[in-house]
Amino acid sequence: MAAASGWAHLILSTYRCILEIDGGNMETDWMSVGRCKELSPTIFFPSDGVGVQAAQRICAECHVSEACLQYALEERVDHGVWGGTSERERRRMLRRRRVGHTVSV
Ligand code: SF4
Repeated sequence: MAAASGWAHLILSTYRCILEIDGGNMETDWMSVGRCKELSPTIFFPSDGVGVQAAQRICAECHVSEACLQYALEERVDHGVWGGTSERERRRMLRRRRVGHTVSV
């Protein structure tokens, strides 16, 4: 895995246990090249809608946003802006996935 700094390092530290439980199979190299890597992590854990939009503007220009979003969805990351999505948006996505899975079974 590539070296990570800033935000990516925080993410890696926080979710190390999850990765170990998963056997380390989840791809996380994208974390070292995200636009947020040199920015304050607090930007991506906003306390209001204005803050969410500010973080989303950064994510909108990030070329690893899809990998970031998939990671947050797979790992059920509840807090913060990931892959340009708010907490509420990810909850909706997960609900839709569950409904879709239930319907297709
Ligand atoms: S999509 Fe946003 S939170 Fe994810 S790596 Fe890129 S800038 Fe960081």
